[in-house]
Amino acid sequence: MATDAPPQWGYSGEIGPDNWGCLSSDYSLCSAGVEQSPVNLVGYVPGGTEPVTFDYTTLAVQARNNGHTVYLDFEPGSGVSVGGRRYELLGVHYHSPGEHLLDGESFAAELHLVHQDADGNLAVVGLLLRLGNPSPLVEDLLGLAPATGVEADIGGGPNAAAYVPSGTGYYGYSGSLTTPPCSEGVRWMVMQDVGTVSQEQVEILQSLTHGPNNRPPQPIGDRQIVVSAGG
Ligand SMILES: [Zn+2]
Repeated sequence: MATDAPPQWGYSGEIGPDNWGCLSSDYSLCSAGVEQSPVNLVGYVPGGTEPVTFDYTTLAVQARNNGHTVYLDFEPGSGVSVGGRRYELLGVHYHSPGEHLLDGESFAAELHLVHQDADGNLAVVGLLLRLGNPSPLVEDLLGLAPATGVEADIGGGPNAAAYVPSGTGYYGYSGSLTTPPCSEGVRWMVMQDVGTVSQEQVEILQSLTHGPNNRPPQPIGDRQIVVSAGG
């Protein structure tokens, strides 16, 4: 029944980010939350991060387009370890323009690798992409992206290993999902290594979602952003 469907939300107009918190009581954290994402990564404290290790070995098995982004879901077995916890990789999706800012710089696109531990805690790895050469990761994703509303079995790739950043330095902070219901308690790790994406790829990414799909930066409040030593 339509009344059971989640409320519609989007990235512009009356259902845009400024109004998410009013669209449903389920979305109240989008406006009332005080540890929301994304943020402008600035004023970070060096040396405060816990090392993260990537164990990415499995293949993407499904591609989904929900109209807000395109997801690649991975078969179980890949994950990251940080702070004594193992978080299993669920999948990757994109935002364009990027969502996090770095010292005020905005990016052309951002990939989010979403993970969950055995207790249901979420950890998201963000890969920032600035305009430049085409991204092979985005190329793979575009090649597999189904039409809006379609879920497609893809079996056989790409391999999660392709997403492992060349360095493990990151900006870390506690935040939220960047889409409704904006749930908090998400462990964010935005990698220091910035990749590139071409203008043509950006245009295709944004055409898949009929426009930009980035939430604007949210107040950092009392939170501390930490960064790997030497970063
Ligand atoms: Zn995301």
